[in-house]
Amino acid sequence: RRADEAMYADKRRIKNGPGPTSDQKQLATDLWGAAERGELRVYYQPVVELPSGAITGVEALVRWQHPAHGMIPPGAFVPLAERIGAIDEIGAWVLAEACAAIAGWRAAGRDLHLAVNASARQLNGGFADRVARVLAETGLPGAALIIEITESVQVDNADVVSELHRLHDLGVRVALDDFGTGYSTLRYLTQLPIDILKIDQSFVSVLNGTAQSAVVADTVLRLGRMMNLTTIAEGVESAEQATELAGLGCLNAQGYHFARPMPGEELESLLFPAVSQAG
Ligand code: C2E
Ligand code: MG
Ligand code: MG
Ligand code: MG
Repeated sequence: RRADEAMYADKRRIKNGPGPTSDQKQLATDLWGAAERGELRVYYQPVVELPSGAITGVEALVRWQHPAHGMIPPGAFVPLAERIGAIDEIGAWVLAEACAAIAGWRAAGRDLHLAVNASARQLNGGFADRVARVLAETGLPGAALIIEITESVQVDNADVVSELHRLHDLGVRVALDDFGTGYSTLRYLTQLPIDILKIDQSFVSVLNGTAQSAVVADTVLRLGRMMNLTTIAEGVESAEQATELAGLGCLNAQGYHFARPMPGEELESLLFPAVSQAG
């Protein structure tokens, strides 16, 4: 918890990385092979059921343990990785690492699902094949996996559409992340095979108990019910927000109020308290 909090203490790092723009070239160079050199980490943020708060799954969120700059958040290197073409390598590593971890925790008795973020650039031909391979290698059932995409994927791209359908064939679900913040939001719902809507944290942070502040969250939740989609509220930071969302019929949530993203070992002691006490 402390580690992840500290990483965000310097707000500048979230988008700009560890240094001034001139360092971006060096950072890009460093990024190549970061996965192979063992510098990437997967943090897991619990997804909970409302109102109980019981953990039903986790979202995998990548971090980069840079040898000189310390822990770097994804906002500071994922867009860079997309630009230089390193996102496939990074995404493949995150997928394999997280699927193996979740398969292990499921084998130890926790029925968890796993959500993994995918950049638009990763959804080229071959993505679903990779997912199929990782599922086979780790033994994770497709039904336990969720791939999160954003409204930056090209809704008209035939490759994207067919990769998403192939994920469905594997039993994998597709979530639309940060829902409502992109362009032509509603077209995604009619043209892509979407199973889950993630209500962006900007629609959660405004909740203040008034009907006006809840209009967007309420509308997305209603839309989800009408389209038979699962909905998950993101960025829940207070008990008041959780209560209000539950009152609007929201059944799933994520946010600092429940748990921050954390390393696998920490999640493990949360999931299996008796086991970690025993040593
Ligand atoms: P996202 O998928 O929308 O993930 C949610 C982000 O919100 C995470 O930031 C998480 O740490 C943060 N968050 C969770 N709860 C709260 C809260 O209560 N309050 C606030 N203020 N923030 C909260 P993070 O880890 O910095 O990730 C940022 C973005 O980077 C992600 O947004 C996702 O788009 C991208 N990303 C992360 N991991 C990967 C990855 O493996 N591959 C790709 N392609 N993108 C990734
Ligand atoms: Mg996400
Ligand atoms: Mg999001
Ligand atoms: Mg996001």
